[in-house]
Amino acid sequence: MPDPEPISASSPPATWLERLPASVVVILDGCVHYANQAALKLLGATSSDQLLGRIVSDFVHPLDQHRVLARLQWTEGSEGSNPPTEFRAYTCTGRQVVLAMTSNHVPIDGRGGLLAAFLDMTERVAMEVRLQETDQNFQRIMNTMQDVFYRTDAQGITRYVCPAVKNVLGYSAEEIMGRPAADFYPDQREREALVAAVRGNGFVHDFPGRMKRKDGRIIDISISTNALRDEQGQYAGVEGIWRDITQRKEMERELERLATRDDLTGLANRRHILDALERAFKRREGRHDAMPFCALIMDLDHFKRINDTYGHVAGDAVLRGVARIVEALSRAGDQIGRLGGEEFLLLLEGADLAAAVEAAERIRSAVQAASIEVVPGLQVSQTLSIGISCWMHADGQSTDMLERADRALYRAKAQGRNMVCNG
Ligand code: GH3
Ligand code: MG
Ligand code: MG
Repeated sequence: MPDPEPISASSPPATWLERLPASVVVILDGCVHYANQAALKLLGATSSDQLLGRIVSDFVHPLDQHRVLARLQWTEGSEGSNPPTEFRAYTCTGRQVVLAMTSNHVPIDGRGGLLAAFLDMTERVAMEVRLQETDQNFQRIMNTMQDVFYRTDAQGITRYVCPAVKNVLGYSAEEIMGRPAADFYPDQREREALVAAVRGNGFVHDFPGRMKRKDGRIIDISISTNALRDEQGQYAGVEGIWRDITQRKEMERELERLATRDDLTGLANRRHILDALERAFKRREGRHDAMPFCALIMDLDHFKRINDTYGHVAGDAVLRGVARIVEALSRAGDQIGRLGGEEFLLLLEGADLAAAVEAAERIRSAVQAASIEVVPGLQVSQTLSIGISCWMHADGQSTDMLERADRALYRAKAQGRNMVCNG
């Protein structure tokens, strides 16, 4: 291409139009009168012959023709420039593109001509469509998911939460957005632990927590969340999912209860109370400074007679009644379980022999004094015998303690029952 002519401010050389990176077309009487190099390229023409003389509407999508031609007509008759308008067009190769056009009136040889400039918007429009689709997909997922997707900013303010939150928390998404996430936690320490874990690791998976519903009910949740970072890498909030696991937790608690509780009395079952004994024993192994610890085995006296006289159902009621008395007299940290039949084990951590004897006497006399209703209107009395053993440093295993308590119980029985002995 030859060098451009020297610049004259009043009339720039025509060759400059050829060099202009923007597409420019001159329209005269509704036909293409001139197209610069950029316009040829944009419209897929290999030479200007493919464009010159062709009517403009040939290039415009039928549905956009009316609008585009009206714009061009408006420009022909006015002095102002036409604001940009977007329309669908066809290139010489038949490809559909989206163009943005602005135009100005230019007189050509005394006739009204138009100078139009074009920008190719095809990619941007395609991107917008893709973005819209992505957005619609996101909304569809958000509207149908059962778990709760949420996002908070660095200050812990909820910026987004999906509609499913209504089913789980009772609040609509709109009621929650803009409020601090902390408002929905019954215990702030639980939220602080979560935020600390997310900040520390960048994420958490299945982090346990609880939330408070609009009706005040507390639910168990499991949270999987990622930390968000801004362009400078600074913490910008969290984004993730939480799931209502109340039912699962209730089932777990029920399974735990079934595995550790005695059905009849509700006390710890044999395995669970023996585990507790074992743990207390292990904590003391090899330690001379360990705090004292006593075990009490309690056995109902002549219990068989209750069954024989009043029936098994009455016997069960006595077992439950005694369990309630022992429970009521035990202190925080004491553990009580049913070893089997009419035998109970009470573990007193921190109690020396004197304290254990005192506790045992309290229980023995309370049971003796009680009248237990076994069927409506029928009260029976019951006594029990108690064998005590204290943890000794020389004990090799926890069963050593049990055996000593059992021998003490045997002596209490032998000496007439309703008695406390230690061994
Ligand atoms: P002792 O004073 O020597 O301990 O006499 P006892 O009658 O209490 O002792 P024994 O071991 O002879 O009888 C215990 C009875 O406890 C026998 C059994 O039928 C009864 N028993 C065990 N488990 C249950 C239970 O779950 N419900 C009822 N009702 N009775 C039970
Ligand atoms: Mg017994
Ligand atoms: Mg007995």
